[in-house]
Amino acid sequence: MKPRLPLIGEPLAVDLVNTRAITPDGPVDFMGTPAELWEWLTRQADRMTTPTQSERTSLSRADLAAVHEVREHAARALTQIRLGKRPPADALRGLNDAQRAAPGIRKLSWRGGSLVGTVERPGSLGARVAADLAEAAAELLTDPIIEALRECEERNCVMLFIATNPRRRWCSPAICGNRVRVARYYQRHKADA
Ligand SMILES: [Zn+2]
Repeated sequence: MKPRLPLIGEPLAVDLVNTRAITPDGPVDFMGTPAELWEWLTRQADRMTTPTQSERTSLSRADLAAVHEVREHAARALTQIRLGKRPPADALRGLNDAQRAAPGIRKLSWRGGSLVGTVERPGSLGARVAADLAEAAAELLTDPIIEALRECEERNCVMLFIATNPRRRWCSPAICGNRVRVARYYQRHKADA
């Protein structure tokens, strides 16, 4: 079965950056419209404060722009860290500012016999989502797991992943692993011809 794009399942900040991809048809932004942002948020619902169904129609271009800004800052910071370099100061400032724009509290409540903590933030939907994602980026950038951050080995692919298995080479064996195998196959047969 063809994997559903964009790929999700990496740390939230990596998933965010991976919504921009290079496909055989060129660069693609899987979070290019408010509707696509909504779809992505729905798929990430179990790990971030997701807008309510009633907020769906209120997702605006401004909300999208706030999220894109955090994505850009996260992408630049992650790239530099992956290369063992100091992340750009403006990218870090951008991640800090996005968190400051909608600071969260972990609201405690007693539900069904156990204590539940839900992050609550003030502000517009875009500011809240951007703050969630900026915080996720800040957590990842300072987590020792970041040392396992890699870029997919397929020549044209820019997907990032955390190689919890050090032998992992591709973002997805079903996409790039397969692409590499097919390319090798053609190369071999071209050599034979
Ligand atoms: Zn790939």
